[in-house]
Amino acid sequence: MSTIERPSTLPATDDEWQARLSPAQYRVLRCHGTEHPGTSPLNFEKRTGYFHCAGCGQALFTSAAKFESGTGWPSFFTPIEEGAVATSVDRSLGMPRTEVHCSHCGGHLGHVFEDGPLPTGLRYCTNGDALRFVPVDDDDQE
Ligand SMILES: [Zn+2]
Repeated sequence: MSTIERPSTLPATDDEWQARLSPAQYRVLRCHGTEHPGTSPLNFEKRTGYFHCAGCGQALFTSAAKFESGTGWPSFFTPIEEGAVATSVDRSLGMPRTEVHCSHCGGHLGHVFEDGPLPTGLRYCTNGDALRFVPVDDDDQE
């Protein structure tokens, strides 16, 4: 777990967030936006590595928990560790869904559904714009 970067100080205002993030990242992370399915390069990311929060840098998911869900959004069956992400109830579509966000900065990641693969049966359906992939350099592995 040596690649986990502990987040630095967080922006205090929306203006500061907008200055730090790209427009697409800002829309997803801070405005609960959803990217168009199939648009994120992370859908095709197959390398070993870590998926960090694009907002604050906290490590959220590993490549070992990524699976091809067929939805067009990067999908994981578990977070990197308990407490890396947090959830809340999202009623914006009329039916309640479980919204997933970064536990450190509160940035919106996506939603979690109970139709994922074993061993958890969960599907963390995320927006690639909310994530930053950091590959593990094979040469660095002990
Ligand atoms: Zn974060």
